[in-house]
Amino acid sequence: MDLLAKLSGIAERHARVRALGLEGVGVVNDKIISPTRAIIGGRETILAGTNNYMGITFEPDCVAAGQEALAELGTGTTGSRIANGSFAMHAQLERELAAFLGRAHCIVFTTGYQANLGMMSGLAGPRDTIYLDADSHSSIYDGCTLSGAKLVRFRHNDAADLDKRLSRGEDDGGGKLVVLEGIYSMLGDRAPLADFIAVKKKHGFQLLLDEAHSFGVLGAGGRGLADEAGLEKEIDFIVGTFSKSVGAIGGFGAGDHPYFDYLRYAMRPYMFTASSSPASIATSIAALRKLAAEPQRRKRLMENSARLFAGFRALGLDMGCDVVSPVIAVKCPDEPSTVAMWGALLKAGVYVNLALPPGTPNKLCLLRCSVSAAHSDEEIDRIIALFGSVVAEGHGLRAMSA
Ligand code: PMP
Repeated sequence: MDLLAKLSGIAERHARVRALGLEGVGVVNDKIISPTRAIIGGRETILAGTNNYMGITFEPDCVAAGQEALAELGTGTTGSRIANGSFAMHAQLERELAAFLGRAHCIVFTTGYQANLGMMSGLAGPRDTIYLDADSHSSIYDGCTLSGAKLVRFRHNDAADLDKRLSRGEDDGGGKLVVLEGIYSMLGDRAPLADFIAVKKKHGFQLLLDEAHSFGVLGAGGRGLADEAGLEKEIDFIVGTFSKSVGAIGGFGAGDHPYFDYLRYAMRPYMFTASSSPASIATSIAALRKLAAEPQRRKRLMENSARLFAGFRALGLDMGCDVVSPVIAVKCPDEPSTVAMWGALLKAGVYVNLALPPGTPNKLCLLRCSVSAAHSDEEIDRIIALFGSVVAEGHGLRAMSA
């Protein structure tokens, strides 16, 4: 039995992309010019699928902070914080982040993926039950698997369905953890937090909110959906990432529980992997300060998002969500046409995410855009115009609307 035979479906997908004259699904940016521009396939391309929400990847003070840390502290930490000890900077980032979030404790991880793996497997074990929104990110599902906890899925954004499942479940004496996301990564919709918190009051579970796409983006303080909704006190644990609005790499978990810090000794994805490099940590600290000091970036991001959303609406495109957020996904009829449209957009000079099952909810085929505060009006209008020309060329996008 050939162990790689199971990859035949993926091979077929790549062949379909190559047939369009493109290199494959793994697009290579030959050169990054700015937060919103790159050279791809010899062509200057507008980046509209990079989660660079605040557009701060080239900010001189963030770049300088990374360079300084690299020069002073070296290229890597060469081990985990449990084995090698921390650099002072890891603890500094944790202190600043805890203060930014208004939380007693914060733990930094090497990636956001590991933050979910670590937090979920540290919080829940085989005697516990994790209730997951059906549209949860893969890192949340994987965290659940690693925990060994019983998994109960409830319908996406449906607090009544969660209520029903909690009422049905017998009390086995174990803990109950419910996991939600601030902005869902594929369709850009938000969790109806108030509804879920009403269910929390009835059933008494602990609630973890993954603010990966909403941290730095939503709320007057930029702390995420719970900040925007005025419900931060009701959230027990927050997870976030530095790979989106912060423009670096890494992740975090935060909370107020007096034992929170001991999770460090109970989370394998924290204990058994090397800690973030000095350059990543220093860049994240500089970027976090920028997020706190420059709320106008959030305003600009929302204006850009509203402009793209309205433009797509005017084209008659069918989007995955009615509420404006920086994640704007266009629903497409089927996989071959989605791949064709994605290729046509790339050749015309705009990069968006080709999002296909099983990475999407309800087996949807999506052209997923992520908007940046750094996009100019002209760039947003160009993205709209290019989507318009793909529709005009008859790739079938407009057929999805109505
Ligand atoms: N949570 C969610 C909701 C995400 O969308 C992602 C990444 N797309 C992650 C966690 C993982 O973050 P990272 O890419 O920083 O590892």
